[in-house]
Amino acid sequence: MFSPYDLHTHSTASDGTLSPTELVARAVAAGVRTLALTDHDTVAGIDEARRAADSQALDLVAGVEISVTWEGQTVHVVGLHVDPEDPVLGAGLVELCRFRDWRAEEMGRRLDKAGIPGTFAGAKALSNGRLISRTHFARFLTRLGVAREERDVFKHYLVRGKPGHVPGQWAALDQAVGWIRGAGGQAVLAHPARYKISASQLRRLIGQFREVGGVALEVVSGSHSRDDYWVMARQARDFGLLSSAGSDFHGPETPWIELGRLPALPDGCVPVWRDWRSPLASVPRSLARGV
Ligand code: AMP
Ligand code: MN
Ligand code: MN
Ligand code: MN
Repeated sequence: MFSPYDLHTHSTASDGTLSPTELVARAVAAGVRTLALTDHDTVAGIDEARRAADSQALDLVAGVEISVTWEGQTVHVVGLHVDPEDPVLGAGLVELCRFRDWRAEEMGRRLDKAGIPGTFAGAKALSNGRLISRTHFARFLTRLGVAREERDVFKHYLVRGKPGHVPGQWAALDQAVGWIRGAGGQAVLAHPARYKISASQLRRLIGQFREVGGVALEVVSGSHSRDDYWVMARQARDFGLLSSAGSDFHGPETPWIELGRLPALPDGCVPVWRDWRSPLASVPRSLARGV
């Protein structure tokens, strides 16, 4: 039995390859009933996704995946049910995108020096005038033939210690969670098993995340193993956090991460959607109870 919830996906508004409309159609066809669009550092795709979902049997959750620098590492915090019009969130995301623009030019300069010219222009063209991410560099470099697959491009060119790497200068953890809460959303620590940090550092990260107002761990993720589900379910329980589930789908080119294939949360997890009310959400509680 697959879960009807997918609370972590990307569109062409960041580094996905499907437009928000195409993403919604594919999610519906795959049996997803509640879909969060969580593009990196932008809510630019939400309007289109919402319009596409309006005519379908799909609850669209307005989301975002915010890049954070924590103890020198990049970690990701997903916001669910954020108000895309919130000005403080909007201003924070604009700052992050400014850093993205500068970083992309700097990556281009560094790759130039490493003997691969033209990557900034190439990656920018692939981003279609939207936000630019390392994924666009990886796609362009794969097309150039420097590696066979995008993940090999990351490994040899785009990660720490490699020629195209530029250290992140993203939001602070408390800032990112604060923006999400301020915009009425719930903050979820994304794919916690993916960070290359020690077990004690991960506990410190989760503890701080909770202290600053984070409410859930992404227990089930397209980038987690089955063992990771159980380990993270345990962490969520130990820290009194809710649990979330998201594919981190970026497009049909990576078929091992598909929409509509997520398993249910492990037993004992309290879902982040526990208190979500679907169409009744706009009805005052007193009326909904009939008093
Ligand atoms: P950025 O936020 O611009 O630094 O890019 C991060 C994105 O790159 C992630 O969200 C993934 O989509 C992608 N990514 C990171 N590492 C890898 C990898 N090893 N292989 C493929 N894609 C990756
Ligand atoms: Mn991505
Ligand atoms: Mn991520
Ligand atoms: Mn993601």
